[in-house]
Amino acid sequence: MPEVAIPLSALAVAAILSGGAVALRLAHTLPTVIALSGGIVVAVALLEVLPEAVENIGEVHDAVPFVAVGFLGFFLLERVLVLHHRDDPEQARAHGRVGVLGALGLSLHSFTDGVGIALAFSVNTETGLLVLLAVVSHGFADGLNTVSFVLSQSGDRARARRWLRIDAFAPLAGAAVGSLISVSDQTLGYFLALYAGFFLYMGATDLLPAAHAHEHDGHGSWGRVVLTVAGFGGIYAITLLGHP
Ligand SMILES: [Zn+2]
Repeated sequence: MPEVAIPLSALAVAAILSGGAVALRLAHTLPTVIALSGGIVVAVALLEVLPEAVENIGEVHDAVPFVAVGFLGFFLLERVLVLHHRDDPEQARAHGRVGVLGALGLSLHSFTDGVGIALAFSVNTETGLLVLLAVVSHGFADGLNTVSFVLSQSGDRARARRWLRIDAFAPLAGAAVGSLISVSDQTLGYFLALYAGFFLYMGATDLLPAAHAHEHDGHGSWGRVVLTVAGFGGIYAITLLGHP
């Protein structure tokens, strides 16, 4: 029932808007929330999306290269669009082509988040809910990134708000598109494998490092590390309930 993805992706809209609101108010990021969402995103990719992809494709060795393609694709996209939004502002300004292209890239990412939710619900409700959870939990970081990215480029708050709205509603549009397309189980498996690669890359490079970010006193926070591990543990527990 992929259509349920449409109302549920409103949660992603709310998460992105609240992340952006925080970024508009506070100049610094919230590493604690991001550390937790890193754990959730990587765990959902490894423990839920990847096995469902393999099951749908039917053969592990056919599935895994698509995970690699997703991982590498996101890596290359980040290079092209210079999406390293939490770079320090001076460096970000030095990148020439950024601006609109970067904000567009982030919005495109949120759109594919929405498509992913819908496709996951067409596998089964559990996968749908877990992918939804992964998207909502990092939606906060997406909104935060969009705003801090546009602000670091232009310092234009009205422009940042505009891009935040575009980014925030992108998952809703993605969920609508994703629930319209119907694909075979096998094609669905390949999409899921790509998503697993996306999630792994984003979680490992953008979200998880927040768990090790240093405090003002120069020390990392064990609390954030514990939260990340708890995110993994929580997702594992949920997948065990789904596959006893
Ligand atoms: Zn996202």
